[in-house]
Amino acid sequence: MATDPLERAREEFLAALAEAGRDAARIEAVRVRFAGRRSGLLRDLEEALKTLPREAKPAYGKALNELKRLVEERLAAAHDGAAAGGPSRSLDVTLPGRRPVTGALHPVTLVRREIEEIFLRMGYSVADGPEVEDDWHNFGALNMPPDHPARDTQDTFFLAGGPLLRTHTSPVQIRSMETMPLPIRVIIPGRVYRRDSDLRHSPMFHQVEGLVVGEGVTFGNLKATLEAFVHVLFDPRLAVRFRPSFFPFTEPSAEVDITCVLCLGRGCPMCSGSGWIEILGAGMVDPRVLRACKIDPERASGFAFGCGLDRVALLKYRLPDLRLLFSGDERLLRQFEGAR
Ligand SMILES: [Zn+2]
Repeated sequence: MATDPLERAREEFLAALAEAGRDAARIEAVRVRFAGRRSGLLRDLEEALKTLPREAKPAYGKALNELKRLVEERLAAAHDGAAAGGPSRSLDVTLPGRRPVTGALHPVTLVRREIEEIFLRMGYSVADGPEVEDDWHNFGALNMPPDHPARDTQDTFFLAGGPLLRTHTSPVQIRSMETMPLPIRVIIPGRVYRRDSDLRHSPMFHQVEGLVVGEGVTFGNLKATLEAFVHVLFDPRLAVRFRPSFFPFTEPSAEVDITCVLCLGRGCPMCSGSGWIEILGAGMVDPRVLRACKIDPERASGFAFGCGLDRVALLKYRLPDLRLLFSGDERLLRQFEGAR
């Protein structure tokens, strides 16, 4: 029969295409062999039409057209399959989608923002200052003249030519008193630096300080302020305890303990069984410090308090080790995803 060569070509084509699989180069070779414009088999079969007797032409032509359509469709499908990759890499639309990785705020940032918010609600503003400080703002104005022994306890990083990395956020108290009109109510969070690195210390850590200066500011105001702060930040059931202490820039000075946030005073390993945790240093601004900032201690008084933000974050989020905060470990940070 006249259509036999067509049938043979169809079988050859399907076999060749099956053998090519999803290999794009081999599919292309099949296309050239069968559908190539210059020398493809289909073109030869078309040429053969001209030599056929008139009565055989319609059947042959119809069969040839069907073959051409088949070749075209199968080649297109094979090319699409090759572009999508092999069977092992094909798209499985039943798989769950990949969730985009979203960032998370660092626990220290979370605690800083929360503390800022608590004091903003009490009418404070947030103050900021340089991390590279001069001797006057970091020490001198804070009642630590050059020979003062308290300087030795601060393990300062000195920079070439005199400036230093601030060892506490207290220089911002000085800068606030130098520039702001009374009454002053500021909360001062920031990075500080000391040459100190072990289990409980990092050479860079975070502090937050508060300063209130105005007429008739008393130690009672300080106590009420810190109680309110601790109750909002941690737990309204916590008690606050003041112990006499010494800081060069406050007089009188106190260490401030709170009821252990973990055991609520019953005693546990974190509070060494005492039921108390030391959390803040505080006191009335020393008159010498006020005078250094050109504020008359007869007219105005003030209180200041400060604490380690990192330590507060450890307590707040029950983290066991300060170094976790600076490790950049994603497993820690992921736990704070979605927190603000
Ligand atoms: Zn405890």
